[in-house]
Amino acid sequence: METKMLIGSSFEAGTDTEEHVLNPRTGEVILKLPEANPGQIDRAVASARAAFGTWGRTTPSERSEKLLAIADAIEANLEELAQLEALNCGKPINEVRTAEVPAVADCFRYFAGAVRNMHTSAAGEYMAGHTSMVRRDPIGVVASIAPWNYPMMMMAWKLAPALAGGNTVVLKPSEQTPLTALRLAKLMADILPEGVVNVVVGQGASVGNTLISHPDVDMVSITGDVATGKKVLQAASRTVKRTHLELGGKAPVIVFDDADLGRVVEGLKAFGYYNAGQDCTAACRIYAGPKIYDNLVADLSAAAASIVYDNSDDTLNEIPPLISMRQRDRVASFVERTREHKHMEIATGGSSHEGSGFYFQPTVIAGALQTDEIVQREVFGPVVSVTRFTDADQAVDWANDSDYGLASSVWTRDVGRAMDVSARMRYGCTWVNTHFMLVNEMPHGGLKQSGYGKDMSMYALEDYTAVRHVMIAH
Ligand code: NAD
Repeated sequence: METKMLIGSSFEAGTDTEEHVLNPRTGEVILKLPEANPGQIDRAVASARAAFGTWGRTTPSERSEKLLAIADAIEANLEELAQLEALNCGKPINEVRTAEVPAVADCFRYFAGAVRNMHTSAAGEYMAGHTSMVRRDPIGVVASIAPWNYPMMMMAWKLAPALAGGNTVVLKPSEQTPLTALRLAKLMADILPEGVVNVVVGQGASVGNTLISHPDVDMVSITGDVATGKKVLQAASRTVKRTHLELGGKAPVIVFDDADLGRVVEGLKAFGYYNAGQDCTAACRIYAGPKIYDNLVADLSAAAASIVYDNSDDTLNEIPPLISMRQRDRVASFVERTREHKHMEIATGGSSHEGSGFYFQPTVIAGALQTDEIVQREVFGPVVSVTRFTDADQAVDWANDSDYGLASSVWTRDVGRAMDVSARMRYGCTWVNTHFMLVNEMPHGGLKQSGYGKDMSMYALEDYTAVRHVMIAH
């Protein structure tokens, strides 16, 4: 297991406070990892700065080759990476092996191709006697800060477009899930020139804060909580850094009476509880039409109760535990507070699971009202609320009545209604008759307090490059 950080070309252990990295399935300590000291963070930024001079001038095809080599290395080490990610996050191994690691490799491959196809507007004589052209150039040193829910995937979403665009990076994984980042650092060090990627570990308040405040960092990209995003903005304002914020979500799911109930329930079972709901796009806030509501609550509750977890045969498990005791307690407290209101019913689940790991039962809260906390706030756990609506306008108003604006879905057999409602949703993404489907060619990112800037797609490459005008007098 790699425990050393990558700073320039050297692998170094941190020397500051030790973080206990846990196995969420058992609560046991996997290892104690000392965090980066301020001098090491400085050197990581300095090595990224030094590398930028050369890396930023490489051709798209040269960078593309490196990204393809990283994708190949990820695939060659798929089993080891999958096992590490499963260990550190408690994820069912099959999900990591067949869905998450392949998506990580595909992300690097997508940006390897995308950067060779980046175009700008036509050069020309927009002022007589002068030729103008628009360039897309790298921004410089990017500080990338990742969360714990998909450690490797978030790392790929940040690194691939940044590197493709010609930037150099200092990446900090979540202090709770650093294991795959450290392993990937080792793999990337064999492929990339010195300093192009640096990986430092440690807490947000110390290492993260030092990084985002560093005067020689040009851009901060963070996936995390809204509160953390606000801190990034404050720190960035001091040196007017560019920011890219992927923050929380509370995805509304509008289910009209004419929807295919079987398909809805199958979808919600998968997309509401995947990764135990620790997903910013999780289908967690259901608005059901007046006629479909009762059957939806009954069938969804039965489906949620059938989800397999904490089975000694991990190949049968469908969802992981929560990442930490703290997160489980947080989820439990949201559910406990619903018991104080008579109009809500815990239709299934509602408790922490007995045993040593940080499991929480897949839960359905029926009868939730728009003003309830469970409808308004991000729980980030296996908890789905269901609210009855009367008509389409009310459903859209309620869906949009949220601080968040990341993902949403609409379920109906009526194409015209699907188009109309999708157009009115104030969310970065609206799926129709599905949810949660992400693909590297398409943008992912929020509106409102879910942040701004896109991951995946050509739009991410645009976010990690600067538009520049060059004018030549004849
Ligand atoms: P978090 O904000 O606590 O931590 C995210 C990262 O930020 C960690 O690496 C952490 O160490 C760092 N951090 C914390 N405080 C910091 C500070 N003051 N300065 C610099 N860095 C700091 O979030 P989390 O608990 O790890 O992840 C869960 C959150 O992430 C949820 O809100 C979820 O919705 C969000 N999320 C969003 C997306 C998206 O695409 N929008 C994807 C995944 C997760």
